[in-house]
Amino acid sequence: MDRFARQINAVQRRTETLNQSLAASSRQPGLLVQAFNQLHDALEELQVTHNELLLQKEQLADCYRSAELERQRYRNSFDFAPDAYLITDRDGNIVDANRAAANLFQLRIQSYNAWANKSLLDFLPQDQQNAFHYQLLRLPHEQTLKDWEVVFCKKDGQTFPATISVNTVKNLNDEIHFYWLIRDITARKQAEEAQAIKSENLQLQETVRLKSQFMAMMSHELRTPMHIILGFAQLLLRQPVKLLAPQLKNMVERIYNNAKHLLALIEDILDFTALESGKLSLNSQQFNLAELIQSVTQELQHLASRKQLPLVVDIKLQNPTIIGDSERIRQILVNLLDNAIKFTDKGSVTLEAYEMPFCRIAIVVRDTGIGIAESDIKCIFQEFRQVNQTYCRTHGGTGLGLAIVDKLLKLIGGTISVESELGEGSTFRVELPRGVESALVRSC
Ligand code: ADP
Repeated sequence: MDRFARQINAVQRRTETLNQSLAASSRQPGLLVQAFNQLHDALEELQVTHNELLLQKEQLADCYRSAELERQRYRNSFDFAPDAYLITDRDGNIVDANRAAANLFQLRIQSYNAWANKSLLDFLPQDQQNAFHYQLLRLPHEQTLKDWEVVFCKKDGQTFPATISVNTVKNLNDEIHFYWLIRDITARKQAEEAQAIKSENLQLQETVRLKSQFMAMMSHELRTPMHIILGFAQLLLRQPVKLLAPQLKNMVERIYNNAKHLLALIEDILDFTALESGKLSLNSQQFNLAELIQSVTQELQHLASRKQLPLVVDIKLQNPTIIGDSERIRQILVNLLDNAIKFTDKGSVTLEAYEMPFCRIAIVVRDTGIGIAESDIKCIFQEFRQVNQTYCRTHGGTGLGLAIVDKLLKLIGGTISVESELGEGSTFRVELPRGVESALVRSC
């Protein structure tokens, strides 16, 4: 454009010089002057056109600048959009993608060629590619697609759930392009799963509550007739010998013993359901623990004697008075000693009681019986779990005893632990709090 202007100026100058020299000459001056004047006019018009061209050039430059600004603005909004956007051709080959898309698929955004020769299908697990391809073929007819759920693969192979929304757009050359909006929905899926687990748990809790309610009701219904059976059986057994033939007496004894066993079972179920539903309340008062231990061991002595097992008791309590529910502590001791005797055929069963720091008392029941395998130890406190089925079949039991002991101890603020080895015997260690009364706390 400048060169064009310079040239016009040069021609103008030359024309004026020529005009002056010709005006000075005497030969046919009029005709020549007229011709040169016309030339001068033409050049002036050319100058005007040139000026207009210059103006248009500036306007064009302005347009170009604003188009470039617009393009940059679009690029920035596209690049910095929080969602992943991709543009593909109709076969799914990626034409453009923003930073969020690169982050989503773990591609390096700095790399100019990050998306070169890549298809959206490359980011799908193998088993999903056919279904995706089929959907791709239908897209030009459907125009748009919303919240289509798929699973994508990152560069490192890790998969994630996503929703896709697609729009079909035709460019100036009438070629179809797809605009994809992809959202990672991992967090939403996790929240949905957590919600499902929560409502399942609530349902489970409700089922457990109903089960406990049913069990408690049934146990009550069973306990009453059992007491009646036991009462009448006892009455019959007290009858004079002449009124009850020996064979009949033997039958009544069997009725009595089995009814007692059944009642113990019902009591266990009742206790367990009360503990499970948090309805068991403690009746705490001051009592002598050493006396309680002596009474329990005397009560069970006949079981040990029947198997010729020494039942050794070693109480080292400076202050045997504690506060607690003596009936529940008795229940714990009976369960542990009964098991120790039941699962021991030779050797001995011992019970030790001694003081612990922080106002606690340890009671250790040790036996030399069949022991428990390491893998089974964690199960024995679960309800209805009997780990040595053959032994338990011959020696009875319900698998509720230790579950009750464990729950009772939690209720009274105690603990239980066990050490055992198959064939080498077991040691159950209980720790009890002395109770809360200040006088006792001062004395321990
Ligand atoms: P059970 O009524 O069967 O004795 P428990 O809950 O008291 O039920 O015990 C659960 C299981 O733990 C028993 O069936 C037995 O397999 C095991 N167990 C408990 N105490 C002992 C022990 N002293 N020696 C060996 N195994 C034991």
